[in-house]
Amino acid sequence: MIDENCIFCKIANGEIPSKTVYEDDDFRVILDLGPASKGHALILPKDHYNDLYELTDDLTGKAFILAKKISILLKKKLNCEGLNLVQNNGRTAGQTVFHFHIHIIPRYNDDQQKIGWKPQEVTQEELEDTLQKIFES
Ligand code: AMP
Ligand code: ZN
Repeated sequence: MIDENCIFCKIANGEIPSKTVYEDDDFRVILDLGPASKGHALILPKDHYNDLYELTDDLTGKAFILAKKISILLKKKLNCEGLNLVQNNGRTAGQTVFHFHIHIIPRYNDDQQKIGWKPQEVTQEELEDTLQKIFES
């Protein structure tokens, strides 16, 4: 299941060269070409899935276990002080390449990056409303 118009399909399957950190039958892990920090890596499945909603359970499990493995490798080799996993789904959430991927972003005390959100105020009623929506049939 490869999408001929998808750049990450081409990279994951070796049609376009990349700086590859790791490869197995299911995934290629590459260095991001617009990195947030030194060692910013992307986990790419070799098959095409637009996003997390489409990814199979099997590959979802494997992808996050691989994210842990690569995180430990980067921490050890690059001596980062912290590390973020980021996984964007949908344009609104910042997804720009519509082939599922996990960002692994090593963090350094002086990296000047900010990955996060602005906390909003919420009332107990609003939290209750959210729960109702999640649980309603
Ligand atoms: P997202 O915004 O979550 O869809 O992330 C897409 C990421 O892919 C960005 O961090 C880009 O810098 C990165 N990217 C786009 N094209 C390439 C490429 N050809 N090789 C490596 N990384 C890429
Ligand atoms: Zn693809």
